Amino acid sequence: MLGPSDDEPGLTRRRLIVGAAAAGATGAISSATQAASAEGASQSKPQRARSATLVRQYDVIVVGAGLAGLTAANAIQTAGHSVLVLEARDRVGGRNLDLPLAPGKVLEMGGEWAGPEQSRVLELAQSLGIATFETFSEGNNLYYHEGRGQTYTGEIPPANPAALAELELMITELDEMAATVSPAHPWTATQAATWDVETVTAWIESQAHTAEARQLTELAIRAVYGEDSGQISLLDLLATIAGVGGEINTLIGEAQSLRFVGGPQQMSVDLAARLSTPVQLSAPVRRVESSKRLKLHTPREPNGATIKIQAVYSTPFWRANGLNGAVVSDTGPIEVVYDNSPPDGSPGVLVGFAEGNVARALFSLSPPQRRTEVLGSLARYFGSAALNPTGYADMVWATEAFTLGAYGSFNPPGVLTSLGAAVHGPAGNLHFAGADYSPEWPGYMEGAIRSGGAVAEEVLAAL
Ligand SMILES: Cc1cc2nc3c(=O)[nH]c(=O)nc-3n(C[C@H](O)[C@H](O)[C@H](O)COP(=O)(O)OP(=O)(O)OC[C@H]3O[C@@H](n4cnc5c(N)ncnc54)[C@H](O)[C@@H]3O)c2cc1C
Repeated sequence: MLGPSDDEPGLTRRRLIVGAAAAGATGAISSATQAASAEGASQSKPQRARSATLVRQYDVIVVGAGLAGLTAANAIQTAGHSVLVLEARDRVGGRNLDLPLAPGKVLEMGGEWAGPEQSRVLELAQSLGIATFETFSEGNNLYYHEGRGQTYTGEIPPANPAALAELELMITELDEMAATVSPAHPWTATQAATWDVETVTAWIESQAHTAEARQLTELAIRAVYGEDSGQISLLDLLATIAGVGGEINTLIGEAQSLRFVGGPQQMSVDLAARLSTPVQLSAPVRRVESSKRLKLHTPREPNGATIKIQAVYSTPFWRANGLNGAVVSDTGPIEVVYDNSPPDGSPGVLVGFAEGNVARALFSLSPPQRRTEVLGSLARYFGSAALNPTGYADMVWATEAFTLGAYGSFNPPGVLTSLGAAVHGPAGNLHFAGADYSPEWPGYMEGAIRSGGAVAEEVLAAL
């Protein structure tokens, strides 16, 4: 915990960058900016003693040691300025957390995949000497629908022909609408007002007459946001599609095609190691003080509700049956699965997701009950061998105090058009970075890195 120790009584800086995932802290902090203080600072030292001691100055203080904050901090240091990173958790990486599995092998409990179009994250990994490998995909995918599994290849599950036709039309329609939306300023789109009051579910229902097309589209949206489509503004979805280059298929296909040998959290660990002032861990920022009055908006962007699970087996036994481990299912709690084995296939690992209300239904279960439910899903897809993993891990991101849900935040109806412009850009000398602020690849590691780089430029220009 950061407290003003004898030689470090307080902290001030000329610029402050707040990480995106600090949703609660962002709200609290955005009222002011003259000094950032971490929890414990005010309790552990009387006010008078503080003012009598030296205040340590930094050009920039970064709140949060996720990819965005660490990218920004490195860029600011490279430009010759002093920078301090304050991190609430006792580790760096934020929504990247890798658990050790075997030497050089990990279970990625947070962010995991990248795609070929995500240039910045791939460049960063390369510059740090972190190799990538392809997500295992040899063999058949499984589509589990109405109690029956069907194998298939390619991106689209073998739904009935009417549903497939509707799916194709919806994909085209979404891409066409997204072409009229600026990812950076979605509220300026000609149809913004109409699209922002409509939920994605309402739009799906207006387009799809078959239950299967509706179900598959809603599942795809849950897989992107970790939230039910009934919560999300259509304008938010269109801006997200625009932000990944204009095709929704990029979000649900290619973005999952590459993994990082040894896991993506290494990127944060390595970026932190490059900083000449070590990241202050266990230092949650509770308050930012400023002489300038800033408007405080109630946080209106909730987070998704994803639970990510990993089941470890001595071998990837499903491969012997011609399956590649990928599942799309209409039956929860685990509706999406991938083969998550290390590059050499040893051990075998399945990764799965429960999202939105399907995940919330598991929140009140004990860990053993949750595990039973999850393994029941996997056994439905891969047989009873799935019931006996040699290892198991899951992570309920909604219970993480400094993340509050996964994969990231989203805009409910009405928020983008009412608040989007108002919360855009810096507030005084308080600048915002993070995956969720990025117009490009919002919610992804790619977005976090781009946003961290962009905000560092903004800050450097202002220093
Ligand atoms: C389960 C899951 C799966 C995902 N899968 C993928 C994927 O496959 N591919 C992909 O690209 N992305 C994925 N993501 C998203 C990706 O991990 C994030 O977009 C990215 O890591 C966010 O980086 P960030 O720096 O913007 O925010 P974060 O990583 O959330 O970092 C913010 C940091 O700020 C700290 N903080 C918060 N409040 C305070 C405070 N008050 N004081 C000090 N510090 C504070 C937090 O502890 C955290 O370390 C996934 C995320 C999750 C959770």
